[in-house]
Formats: sequence, structure tokens, C-alpha cells
Amino acid sequence: MLHSKGPLVSIDVGEREASETDITQVQRQYIGGRGVATRLAHERIPFDADPFGPENRAVFTTGPMQASQMSFTGRTNCTALSPLTDGLLSSNAGGFVSRHLAATGYGAVELAGASDELLAVHVTDEGVEFEEVPQLEEATVSETVEYLEDEHGVSSDQTAVIGPAGEHEVRFASVMTTEERAFGRGGLGAVLGSKNVKAVTFEGDSAPDIEVPAGQMDIHREAATDDHIMKRQGTVSVMDLANEMDGLPSYYFSERSFEGVEGINGAAVESKKYKKATCSACAFACKLPTRDEERGVETEGPEFEVAMAFGSNSGVDDIVDVMQSNELCDEYGLDAISAGNTIAAYLDAEDEFGNTDLIWDLVEQIAHREGVGDRLAEGIGRIHDDLGVENWSVKNMDFAAHEGRLLHGQGLSYAVANRGADHMYATFYSVEYPLVDEDEAMDPAGFDGKPERLVERENLMALNDSGVVCKFSRDFMSPERYEMLFGADFQDLLEVGARTVTLERHFNNQRGIDEADDRLPYEDELPGLDDAIQTYYDVRGWNDDGTVPETALPA
Ligand code: SF4
Repeated sequence: MLHSKGPLVSIDVGEREASETDITQVQRQYIGGRGVATRLAHERIPFDADPFGPENRAVFTTGPMQASQMSFTGRTNCTALSPLTDGLLSSNAGGFVSRHLAATGYGAVELAGASDELLAVHVTDEGVEFEEVPQLEEATVSETVEYLEDEHGVSSDQTAVIGPAGEHEVRFASVMTTEERAFGRGGLGAVLGSKNVKAVTFEGDSAPDIEVPAGQMDIHREAATDDHIMKRQGTVSVMDLANEMDGLPSYYFSERSFEGVEGINGAAVESKKYKKATCSACAFACKLPTRDEERGVETEGPEFEVAMAFGSNSGVDDIVDVMQSNELCDEYGLDAISAGNTIAAYLDAEDEFGNTDLIWDLVEQIAHREGVGDRLAEGIGRIHDDLGVENWSVKNMDFAAHEGRLLHGQGLSYAVANRGADHMYATFYSVEYPLVDEDEAMDPAGFDGKPERLVERENLMALNDSGVVCKFSRDFMSPERYEMLFGADFQDLLEVGARTVTLERHFNNQRGIDEADDRLPYEDELPGLDDAIQTYYDVRGWNDDGTVPETALPA
């Protein structure tokens, strides 16, 4: 089985020391990316760690596919104990940093401890250097990147940085790379902030020797020539369909269609797109650099989730307004989905839907934990009672746009996913919209066959995150192609994903997360959900209460 190579470098930013450990055995078993990082985190982060404490560890990893020339491989994994969900969580960013991380020669880069001074950590193929950067306190993402370019000659593609939101330990602060690409969900930016790490740079010429089969180029060619709508409109291309199907969360989830959809849909985003953009090696190029010259707004996106969170869910029907919110989140280092949804909760409480000046003020206040922003920085799960609104989160992770009240399998996924109500954990929505081949598609209503399918999809997504292969490769991949790329039987590859999901669940169980947390705010609307959850546990080999029996723990 193809796997990543290179040792773990463990960087104690408190002691300013780095040490190397051979992790070949872990790489053989878990391929790379999320799998390897999850195994390491499960072993190395104490089960009772404080997410903001020095004992938490953030692990950056790539996979063997970063040695290829193939499309869909421009992504990097980061894993830590999440300040938002309080469980083990992996987040995955695009951009170009994956190749630079691989070029350091390390298979995994772990940040541990906590520094007294604000630091930039420079990881190269010659070792690790620490630089005190007090002048970067409160710096935005672009200011931080500019400093690194000017002082160190590294490009934004070589960096992982936080903005003020990470420094202020906002529970949904992101780590940003290539300026606009985010390790977004789950607050990993706050983990770096708690360690007083403002930036990490990756540089070298020592990528490990990994031979990816030549069949990779078939996938690459198809990605280059296919006329896929995502190449023009990215993920927001699905918005009209979701709205027509009564599945577009609006006005803080109180409605499921939005009268102003035409102002924020795929066509609206496409009208502001001014060039193509991509991630490292990817000919699919689904990214969306957008600009409005009149208003002086320039950003990347918004993607579907952000067009929902800052658009329909906040009662905003102008794409330039959503672009401005997106740009602010990228600059301050905030997950734009959680920021938008949390602000939508506040707008609901204050009866202020559509008030864009208030929205932009709130983004700033959250990023700096000022005024009401200090409360909102805790996320919906922790402040909904205080605001007097419904709790639209699972395990404190606020909901993504794909509507579980319409797509019931996606709802099941939101309930049981180890990282809460996030859409990328299983991408189950992709088989419930009428967009896939008939033999792949499932009726959105009901749970027939869905727990079994969900287990398979979660395992497949964990495999992608370990490869590391972008999940938007779905129309170009098949079991045979996974077998060709990784040199292993497809079922054995899915087992890598299964082990990863089970390790996450076991870690979370030790922190008290179990069946009682696998709940949805709209369970009454989904008859059969409880049985579906129990079947899901059965298929996984877990206990009825959602815990992992010791016998099911990977060796
Ligand atoms: S498909 Fe899109 S998000 Fe995925 S690697 Fe390619 S450009 Fe990046």
C-alpha cells in the first residue's frame, strides 16, 4: 500500500526544541494525512487535555499523492483537539502548501507546548528555527504573509498563519494558507493561537521518493478536459437546486428557501469571477477569485456554505455583501461558515436580518473578542441559550448548508459525525441530490440502506483525507482507480478509513462524547432516525451507546 514517508518532527514551541521520530509503521497502517495524524494524536494528546493547553498538539501532514502530478492533490491535513467540538478533529486546506510541506522531508510536523512570546516557526529540510515576532501581534493574514515574504522570501504558498481571531482564541478561528485557503472548521487557528504561534513556514528540496503509478495521468487529463460546472461556479453551483428542493437554510435555519437566491447563487458568483484559480497540481481549478471594482471588494469565493451562512441564513441577498464578509473572515482568520452562522444567530436574536453594517462590525468584534463578539466567539453551541435562539449545532459545530431535513442521509451524517454538523465528513449530500448516476443515487427521504452507505462514505472520505485526495475528485475516481493509485485492495483501503474514524470516536468517548451527543435539533421531523443511528453503530461494531468497545480498537 502506497504511503507517505519521512519522520515526524515534534516541535515544542515552549522549550524551542525539535525532535524526530520514525513513524514508518504508522504510515504503513494509515497511509498519511488525516489517518497518520489521527493515530499520532490519539497516542500523543492526553485524553483529558485542555484544547487551549500546552498538552494539545497540532499535527500537519501530507500523503503519498503529494508526490504525484495528479489533479485533486493540492490539499494538506491538520489535526488537533478542537476547541469548538472538544473532540479530535481534522481539517483540510487547499492551496499550495502541501508540496512545500512534503519538500521539508518530514512526513508529519507537530506543534506542541506553548510559547511565552509570539513566534514564527520555520520548518526546513535542514531543521527548525524559531523567530520571535511581537511586531505581528494582531496582524491580519495578509499583513503576516507580507512580513514573511519580505523578511524571509517565502511565498504565501509556503505558509500556514493565523489572524487576530486565532490569537484571541476564537473557537472557530482558522489556520490560513495561500492567504485565502483555510484549515477552517473546528478552531485549529485557536490551537495555534494558544501556543502563541503566529505562523509556520515550510521550505526545502527533500521531498521523499514515492512512486505514484502512471495511471494518475488519466485522472489528470480528464480533470483538465471535463466541462464540469464547478469549474465555473465552484460549490455554489448547487444553490439553485437546493433552493428549489426546499433545502436552502435561510434566516437562521427558520426557513428552507430564500426569495433573494438569485442575488447570491452560482450565476451571481460567476458574474464576479475575474480569473481561474486552483490548488497545487490541480487542472480541475474550481476556485473562485471574485472582485467588485466599484466597491473595491476582492476575495476568493464565496463557496456554497458561505453564501448560505452570510447570505440566505443572514437575510442578505447581494453577492458583493457576502464577498465582503468572506474577505473579512479570510483577513481575520475566521471559519467563514461558523462566523456567518453565529452572526445569523445574533441577527435572529436582535431581529436584524439583512443588516450588513452590523454583520461586518460583528465579524471584527468576534475576531478581537470585543463587546458582544467575545460571547459570539464561543460559537452557537455555547451561547444559543444566552441569545435565546435555537441550538443549530451538533457537538457544538454549527450546520453546513446541505439541508438534513431534506436530505435525510445527510442529516444522519450530521448526527453521528465525529466532528459534528459538517458536510465534508461523509459528503453524503452528493448521493442524495439528483445529480449522480441512477445506480449511485439515493432517495433523499428516509433511511433505507443509508447507515451502511454512510459508513462506507465516511471511510472513503477518511481515505481521501489520508491520501491526500480532494473530495471534489468524486466524478473522476472509482474503486479501481483507488486500487491503481494506492496499490491495494479497495476494501483494505476503506479499512484504513474505518480505523481512522474509530480512533477519533474512541478519543472522543474518553472525553465523554457518546450517543447523547449524536443528536439533531430536528429529530422529530426525521422518523426512523434513532433506528438508523443504532444500525450505524452496529455496522461500525460499536456499542449501542455510541462508544467503541476495547475489542474494536485498532491495534
Ligand atoms: S478540485 Fe478544487 S479544491 Fe480540489 S484540489 Fe482542485 S482546485 Fe483545489
